[in-house]
Amino acid sequence: MLSSLENRARTGNAPPVRIEVLNTGTELMLGHTLNTHGAWIARELFPLGLTIARQTTVPDGEAIRDALVETVERADAVIVTGGLGPTSDDLTRELTAEVLGLDLIEDEAAMRSIEAFFALRGRPMADSNRKQALSPAGADVLPNPNGTAPGVYVPPRLNGRANCAVFLLPGPPRELHPMFRVEVIPRLRALAGVETPPHSLVLKFTGIGESDFHQGIDERLAAVPGLEYGYCAHIGEVDLRLVGGPAAIETARAIALESFSAQLVSDDGSSLEETVVRLLAARGMKLATAESCTGGLISCRVTDVSGASEVFTHGFVTYANEAKKELLGVSASDLETHGAVSETVALAMAEGALRASGADIAVSVTGIAGPTGGTTEKPVGTAWIGLARKGAEPAAFKVFHPRNRHDFKLAVSQAALDAVRRVL
Ligand code: ATP
Ligand code: MG
Repeated sequence: MLSSLENRARTGNAPPVRIEVLNTGTELMLGHTLNTHGAWIARELFPLGLTIARQTTVPDGEAIRDALVETVERADAVIVTGGLGPTSDDLTRELTAEVLGLDLIEDEAAMRSIEAFFALRGRPMADSNRKQALSPAGADVLPNPNGTAPGVYVPPRLNGRANCAVFLLPGPPRELHPMFRVEVIPRLRALAGVETPPHSLVLKFTGIGESDFHQGIDERLAAVPGLEYGYCAHIGEVDLRLVGGPAAIETARAIALESFSAQLVSDDGSSLEETVVRLLAARGMKLATAESCTGGLISCRVTDVSGASEVFTHGFVTYANEAKKELLGVSASDLETHGAVSETVALAMAEGALRASGADIAVSVTGIAGPTGGTTEKPVGTAWIGLARKGAEPAAFKVFHPRNRHDFKLAVSQAALDAVRRVL
């Protein structure tokens, strides 16, 4: 079913500016790199009430010229990604200047910042990096604190051929994302005349399926005047996007929390692992993990969060029975009697991790990822999650996620992190 949000996108309550995205890169055409920029940029624009009118992907090189010629004729603003690097196939800068009829000149500040980038890392700068300081005359050079390639903004007035603003952004997501937020969004807002963007809020929930979630609140959300909303399901998570006036958002938020407050992960875009780390830090507690079937994914997710060192002590990856015995003190007889994937072993793993680490909470997982190894009693997708805490009885529960190995690991890690969140 379409929410009002998707409906609006479909029926084209179009914003006054036509924004196009031009993704460049042969690796995108070969399928070597998943083109994530369009979706990411669209999500960033959404809260401003702006949408992408068209997205085009072309290989590196001369094809960029043709795509640019078409795009600048049609669009009010075009966001070009990739091809700002130092190599011979990185031609975006040159071709943009050519299409817009502008000279390329060396930007002194950009040159200095590229030199500083290499100096800081104690690396010599190759001559080819010099061309990254070139920019169409009169354009703004957009600083890139995360790489060598500065971005470029060519305002519409500069551009002899078409009345279109052109942004050139670096390909690597870790460079593009911050540059987009700091440099592009304010300029697009000014171009589009977005003075007060609509309020928006994303609530993340876990431990509930998308359809149950939808059924639980959809009718009531639909009745909130001035609210646009949508759902987005990920593995082990449902996001609820709310857009509208402050009152509409508050009403919608209250509706969602009335039914699903226990399942709320965050209302500020934080991931489950970020929430867990924040809760641990707030309570001054430390976490250890004992992982079998997730192979370290839980500790990986926790340590993705800045500040994890304050709250995370040990990540035991005990895949083999021997490892469970040696590192966690799981008894041979428990493994023999109940099998590695069992309540008893999950409990013993969590207790063993708590003992060995001195942490305040230990979470354990043991399961059957498949595709082989399942039995009627313990089918592929079965996992036990154990939780041990200082001064409390340990507990374990079973989950069932019959999926491919990757998704199984993600779903089980989600359930384990959520178990930690709940006790916190
Ligand atoms: P570099 O200085 O690294 O050469 P660049 O600005 O020239 O940067 P590209 O060479 O086009 O950018 O891309 C660099 C890397 O960024 C690619 O290997 C790819 O991993 C990633 N990348 C590029 N475009 C996209 C995209 N549309 N979606 C996701 N990742 C991308
Ligand atoms: Mg490149």
